Amino acid sequence: MSDAFDAHGFTRLNEGEVWKLEAGGNYYVSRNDSALIAFRIPKNGYVGYQIMASHADSPVFKIKTNAEIEVDNAMIKLNVEKYGGMICAPWLDRPLSIAGRVVIDTDKGIETRLINIDKDLLIIPNLAIHMNHDVNNGYSFNAQKDMLPLFGDIDAKGGLLRIIAEAAGTKESAILDTDLYLYNRNKGTVFGANNEYIASGRLDDLQSAFSSMKALLLSEPKRNIALHCVYDNEEVGSLSKQGAASGFLKDVMGRINSAFGKSDEEKLILLQNSFLISADNAHCVHPNQSDKADPTNRPYMNKGIVIKYSANQKYTTDAISGALFRKICNKAGVPYQTFANRSDMIGGSTLGNISTSQVAVNTIDIGLPQLAMHSCYETAGARDTAYLVKAAQVFYSSSVEGIGNGSYSLS
Ligand code: ZN
Repeated sequence: MSDAFDAHGFTRLNEGEVWKLEAGGNYYVSRNDSALIAFRIPKNGYVGYQIMASHADSPVFKIKTNAEIEVDNAMIKLNVEKYGGMICAPWLDRPLSIAGRVVIDTDKGIETRLINIDKDLLIIPNLAIHMNHDVNNGYSFNAQKDMLPLFGDIDAKGGLLRIIAEAAGTKESAILDTDLYLYNRNKGTVFGANNEYIASGRLDDLQSAFSSMKALLLSEPKRNIALHCVYDNEEVGSLSKQGAASGFLKDVMGRINSAFGKSDEEKLILLQNSFLISADNAHCVHPNQSDKADPTNRPYMNKGIVIKYSANQKYTTDAISGALFRKICNKAGVPYQTFANRSDMIGGSTLGNISTSQVAVNTIDIGLPQLAMHSCYETAGARDTAYLVKAAQVFYSSSVEGIGNGSYSLS
């Protein structure tokens, strides 16, 4: 994303420096290299914020420190742990590799380098059915026993650090620490009788994050600042300095407001003229499990953006934010549909209400319809991404202003 914003002439800001911002300017800032906020300021100043937030992380396996484990003096496997709540089975029997960051010792301090070991490196092998006759009758995967990837034969011993150092362009002794993860090597694909579906790893929530970024690049803010926010750590509860529970969004808005000399009261008024779209993928009706969906709110792939409802506010949508978002979709000429969990099912949660606890503005939870959420290979509609880009583009270019008594103007 940083590369895309650089290519489009956005100015990179650093949280450790004073920000000099100008009306009509385009800026972005990254926190921890894993969360990012980009924003466009209207030419004639601003009266509020149009914010779209998504998350960049996905359930995955993290490589533990001292990862190599020797088996029978014949093989080396790697010690990993779960990050987030994944479906375990799809991770088995497919080529995997390692990506993440390596922190290197330098004369001046430390330096971070991102790496991707761009080859089929690992497989987590299933146990043969002959040794596990019940595998098709519901199997409980033990993360410490069943999910450790095979790295090599005994000659590979001590080789992990060497491969990481090579990928980072440094020597093994210079590596101080790492944050490294497994990833699925299977490339994304377009499939279906009429090419109507896509499948890929990490559609939750990169499909939303991509749509939000694309829309920001295409939009022209008029009265409100258009702000694209991508958080990290949604899959583990958002409680990190770069997650939705952190002050990242609030800090950025505070610095923008200070740069434009807004008073404390003006800052509070700005919140009344602001709107947040929490965009995180949604469950559509499953072809083999259609009874798992709510009887009357049944999203399908390629039928448009899903508005999510939850009476207990696991999703932030209420009648006002729902109504405003429906108007935005209508303005964009984009179809939308609705989701609610079955009344006897708990369902998941997302970053909307967590972010709202930091920045209290009208918020809606939406997402694109998908299957197999939290598998390492998910399925979604080929047409829906473009719908979200279009709606987000209209959203970023609009202004929602509170005029009291539950009434809002949309221009
Ligand atoms: Zn998600």
